[in-house]
Amino acid sequence: MALLEIEDLHVHFHTEDGRVEAINGVNLTVDHDEVLGVIGESGCGKTVTVLSVMGLLQSPPAEVVRGSVRFDGRDLLPLSDEELDEIRGDDVSMIYQDPMSSLNPVLSVGRQLIEPLVAHRDISKSAARERAVEMLDDCGLADPERIMTEYPHELSGGMRQRVMIAMALITEPKLLLADEPTTALDVTIQAQILDLLRDLRAEFDTSIVFITHDLPVVSEIADRIAVMYAGRVVETCSIGDLFDSPLHPYTRRLSESIPSLEGTPGRLPVIEGSVPNLLDPPEGCPFADRCPEHHGDVCDSVVPAVTPVAGPHDDHEVACHLYTDLSDERPPWPVPGAGDARVGDRGRGSTRDAADGGRGRPGTESTRTRDGRRSDGGTGGDRQ
Ligand code: SF4
Repeated sequence: MALLEIEDLHVHFHTEDGRVEAINGVNLTVDHDEVLGVIGESGCGKTVTVLSVMGLLQSPPAEVVRGSVRFDGRDLLPLSDEELDEIRGDDVSMIYQDPMSSLNPVLSVGRQLIEPLVAHRDISKSAARERAVEMLDDCGLADPERIMTEYPHELSGGMRQRVMIAMALITEPKLLLADEPTTALDVTIQAQILDLLRDLRAEFDTSIVFITHDLPVVSEIADRIAVMYAGRVVETCSIGDLFDSPLHPYTRRLSESIPSLEGTPGRLPVIEGSVPNLLDPPEGCPFADRCPEHHGDVCDSVVPAVTPVAGPHDDHEVACHLYTDLSDERPPWPVPGAGDARVGDRGRGSTRDAADGGRGRPGTESTRTRDGRRSDGGTGGDRQ
């Protein structure tokens, strides 16, 4: 059983302008001792997804419409705030994006570090204080004894970020949700923080969900990657596949936009356009307006189902009609496991029903094996 299982999560925000469909059927799993990187541009739902896990979405305006979030086998969504408080800051911790608004401005750093330890661990105040000083030191903060007595407004942005990281790590959680934890830090401190997270994982088998825009940073720490776009997961794969054989057109453009030290310098490719307005989400593929591989009606009218890709790589899934049974088009690039042939020449993976949140339902699954034979009936994708 995975440590964290998010299944068919839908989150809407009710605003004056109407209903924003921020999360639309997200499925994610994080295994024990695994680092899952979550990438995607601003507004694609990365932060809302992890705030849902923590039960920290303000309702209203947020509403979890359906889905489940299971941590260690326990569904978190029905839990009360009191029940969640036993888990938050103990087994599950979060590094927030904005330390200034997440740290308490009227409590000293020391008190904010000591409180979760005393609340969740059988430890004396003096031992907790000692551990807090150690943690600040581990996070690269010079003179940690002095910082223990200071307040958030007395620290620089980078220092506040490191205090936030120390707070999240101090209880040695089973699951750490890190929302762009290194964005405000210079590269030296960034490297220290990545080392610290690796140490934590090695020592305590901590699993990490690492949200970032920075592909080189995530490649340093993640085992698997989930690529999000417009409130959906459009591709999940190993970190190796992200760089060697990305499949979704959006993922391909993201990976092409990483500067290379080899070859002739030139302009990096740009993904024209912007993410769709989720007040009025498109009927079909959310990437259709920007997609260089767009191939007609099926892309504009049917949400592509999550499709496991047949091949040598486990756990590679993609949501794009180039890989479903609804389109005759084939990816114009080699697909892992298909050799030089296009995926359609050798058969495709199973197409799962999009209306089912991409998790598959008995009787609707349509599977083609690598030799191209269909193993049972069904259409795979659905209109939503
Ligand atoms: S489904 Fe169509 S529009 Fe969407 S990413 Fe695939 S090819 Fe592009």
